Amino acid sequence: MDSLLAKNQLGETCVICEQSKSKGIHLYTSFICMDCEKDIVTTNTNDPKYKYFLKQLKKINTPEIYS
Ligand SMILES: [Zn+2]
Repeated sequence: MDSLLAKNQLGETCVICEQSKSKGIHLYTSFICMDCEKDIVTTNTNDPKYKYFLKQLKKINTPEIYS
């Protein structure tokens, strides 16, 4: 039980903000923290911030379905 708790506290590195966070989602092999995930869904696609998210998301190795 202790090891499980320690693992949660350690967290994973978010591909968007590049900070170690304990809560978030997995997208393919990458991790997106809860804060960034919320940011992405609430940011308008016309917002310059959205382009930054897309740029960061491009680093994720996705299967080449859309190419
Ligand atoms: Zn993040």
